[in-house]
Amino acid sequence: MSDLDALTSSAYSQALEVIASVEPRIAAATRQELADQRGSLKLIASENYASPAVLLTMGTWFSDKYAEGTVGHRFYAGCQNVDTVETLAAEHARELFGAEYAYAQPHSGIDANLVAFWSILAHRVEGPWLEKAGSKNVNELTDADWESLRKELGNQRLLGMSLDAGGHLTHGFRPNISGKMFHQQQYGTDPETGLLDYDVVRAKAKEFKPLILVAGYSAYPRRVNFAKMREIADEVGATLMVDMAHFAGLVAGKVFTGDEDPVPHAHVVTTTTHKSLRGPRGGMVLATKEYAPSVDRGCPMVLGGPLSHVMAAKAVALAEARQPAFQTYAQAVADNAQSLAEGFKSRGAKLVTDGTDNHIVLLDVSSFGLTGRQAESALLDAGVVTNRNSVPSDPNGAWYTSGVRLGTPALTTRGFGHDEFDNVAELIVQVLQNTEAGTTKAGGPSKASYTLAEGVADKIKDASAEMLDKHPLYPGLELS
Ligand SMILES: *Cc1c(COP(=O)(O)O)cnc(C)c1O
Repeated sequence: MSDLDALTSSAYSQALEVIASVEPRIAAATRQELADQRGSLKLIASENYASPAVLLTMGTWFSDKYAEGTVGHRFYAGCQNVDTVETLAAEHARELFGAEYAYAQPHSGIDANLVAFWSILAHRVEGPWLEKAGSKNVNELTDADWESLRKELGNQRLLGMSLDAGGHLTHGFRPNISGKMFHQQQYGTDPETGLLDYDVVRAKAKEFKPLILVAGYSAYPRRVNFAKMREIADEVGATLMVDMAHFAGLVAGKVFTGDEDPVPHAHVVTTTTHKSLRGPRGGMVLATKEYAPSVDRGCPMVLGGPLSHVMAAKAVALAEARQPAFQTYAQAVADNAQSLAEGFKSRGAKLVTDGTDNHIVLLDVSSFGLTGRQAESALLDAGVVTNRNSVPSDPNGAWYTSGVRLGTPALTTRGFGHDEFDNVAELIVQVLQNTEAGTTKAGGPSKASYTLAEGVADKIKDASAEMLDKHPLYPGLELS
């Protein structure tokens, strides 16, 4: 055991004892969560394992501090150390992504998108409105002025990728606030190939003339050409917002460069920090200088007080992502997705877009006679953690779905390589081949119930355990 491993082990063992002295059940659940994560094949494409340094950074007294406002301009006294933390997080982010401006405060990806939407509205709608009204100060507006401004703000258009093509619910989906705030339209993917068709996006943009064109996804297994998206945005006078929540790690690790790197092309880029980027649970916004002043108003515009302990952990994670080892990791994430996809194809399974070139594989389980819900549940019984996901024009809708989304970031962190991912494909195919769709009480086909053939779950768990033991999670961490 290295010195650092020994330190980490004793830090966590002691921390758990302190927690147990107040509420032992929370200490026990925390221990159990580690055991569960260590013992399952985590293929959830949006999850990862942050380093002990990142995790430990979150457990401090920075949690106790209020720091609304921005660096040097806080609504509370005594924020000098938070200023250090936020400055470092933003500096690492700017350097890592080559961004003109970085905002490290958003509490999550959804919050980062809210910041982006309102910043764009502030910059493009509120600012010009105030100028036209001949007043620069919002405090001087009359009730009638407010009515008119509110109408302007509420009358804007957003064009994003549709949910069933892989877009995110915050990109204009009706149940989300983005679908209520904006007049929204969506672009999908080609029904034959499942790929984005930029000519279709362009035609939609020309017809709809959105204020905001959103690019980015959470379940599209392919790269996006952001230079082309920017061209389209420019042609219609839209602001290009890229939500790289899912693939930020591939941008940070220089797997996505040139036209595939959103940062040089978008006006505003939003992200999470806990997915492929492998940091703490949180969000971030990158922007051009032009949009920086309005993004900077994120708190208190739409955000509550910053989570300073999490911003500190973002700084640590971003420092990690600036190391050469992170580029090796990111490349392995993409290579492993290839191995997983090839593993499925060689066993006759059907993939949306027939493959991948990022970290996501979207398995169409309809050829196994199952819904996504049934497949997800049967896989979980066998210790394989995934999530069901719609496929384009999904006949089973967004709840039952026909797909299962898989991602390589987490298991790649554990050290899984080509052979393991090929084997993962084999194990998943075995589970699905041995799962029968159930029937409803009325005797019709059920979209939820299923039967997994006897003995299969144990067999798969044994085969997984062999790989998981070979690639332990937090290898040097031993709890006393
Ligand atoms: C995950 C995700 C989000 C939301 O992130 P949260 O931290 O869960 O709020 C937003 N956009 C995209 C594209 C995502 O994949």
